[in-house]
Amino acid sequence: MAAKMNNIQLVTQVTMGETGTATLEGVRRYQLGRLNETLTYCKTRSRFYKKHLSGVLSPLNAWEDFGRIPFTSQEDLREGGMEAFLCVPPGEIRRITTLQTSGSTGKPKRIGFTDEDIEGIIRFFDYGMRELTQSGKKVMNCMPGSRENGITDLLAKAMSRFGAVPLIYGSIADPADAARFVLEQRPGCLTGIPAQILGLAAYMEKHGLNKETCIESVLLSTDYLSESVRNRIERIFNCRIFNHYGSTEMGYGAALECAAHEGMHLREAELYFEIVDPDTGAVLPPGQEGEVVFTTLRRTGMPLVRYRTGDIARFMPDAVCACGSVLPRITGLRRGDDCEILLSRGRVTLQALDEAVFALEGLTDYTVAITRAPKLTPASESELMRKSKLASESESESTRESKPAPERAIFSFTLWTVDGETPDGGEWAAVRGRVQAMIPDQALSVEMRVAAPGAVPPSLQGKRMIEWDGAAAP
Ligand SMILES: [Zn+2]
Repeated sequence: MAAKMNNIQLVTQVTMGETGTATLEGVRRYQLGRLNETLTYCKTRSRFYKKHLSGVLSPLNAWEDFGRIPFTSQEDLREGGMEAFLCVPPGEIRRITTLQTSGSTGKPKRIGFTDEDIEGIIRFFDYGMRELTQSGKKVMNCMPGSRENGITDLLAKAMSRFGAVPLIYGSIADPADAARFVLEQRPGCLTGIPAQILGLAAYMEKHGLNKETCIESVLLSTDYLSESVRNRIERIFNCRIFNHYGSTEMGYGAALECAAHEGMHLREAELYFEIVDPDTGAVLPPGQEGEVVFTTLRRTGMPLVRYRTGDIARFMPDAVCACGSVLPRITGLRRGDDCEILLSRGRVTLQALDEAVFALEGLTDYTVAITRAPKLTPASESELMRKSKLASESESESTRESKPAPERAIFSFTLWTVDGETPDGGEWAAVRGRVQAMIPDQALSVEMRVAAPGAVPPSLQGKRMIEWDGAAAP
């Protein structure tokens, strides 16, 4: 097997046979076969699916029938518990990952993998990482977690298979320390979380160290990736960025960019993806944005059928990628919940804020608390009008006079910057302008402070954007 073989070629080999050429029809034919096996397997072995799929007549002959199979929700997984989903005796589960819900009341989700499942994950990482690096090269792994068969461990095992040298570093809490590690070890590739890798890159640039590295490629994962972050890391290290999409339920890895960097090719040999309308559940055609739903095709421990991820994305509509592959690609990923705040005149998404704020040179991370100004008494209204006149440049004199006082949104930013430096005034004004452009009809106040040295950035713990009722310090 050629050392240059990548994940796209692996999918082709699994779905089309050793010497086959990938066609979308061929891949779909393979998937429908695997899917029917999965349905039978789940209905006979899993307590949950025995009931959940009892009305489903299998084998399915066409994809249209697949669209009628009920979804599996995250709630099903939480309430049913791992045991109800298991298709093997609990003793055959080698690795259990517990996913705590961000709220305090929800039950955690637990996902179990067998040895065979873990082998499938390693194989995906193995061929995926061949796109980024090669035998003999060092890879600095900055993914969080150090448990056996966790993502860091599996990545290391995968890279060892083709002779790359994994260096396990872990989460970057101190960019200066990580920079020393880079200079000592001279890795050719990094893997990690976007904001943490950005923190390292910004630190190295500030101290003139980025020119001394030999980083050729960076794998970014775990978080969605804003263009601002991507562009800054790419420029500072003069490297190629490969975005990766995956979750524990998917078996960590699900999609990876190819050398063309236009969307992420999916792990079609092991997972079948759909994009559905989040409200109606109808399957959407390529190009349309909707919720990501997947079905495992080879999972043995705890297969999932039409599992709703809550993530939003779309398939790229063009049939062939610039790399030459016909395998579909997914793009525009974002989290569907928890990243949008509705104001009286418009909405603010975390993605749009990330694009605006991460463009600041020297910025490594930030949080924002968004507050609506309290209801006004007539006396304070004129005061606010005077203030909003100063704050809102975009509104003309005449329209402002004719409208009642608008609700005011207060954006309180805390910025993490290299060495705690205050951002350039002109650049900050540009950020302010981009925030105002998101809510053009809303009066806006923007506050900014630089985080105290040693404060824990949100990429290590916590949320980036919160809505604050103004009652206590956010
Ligand atoms: Zn491609």
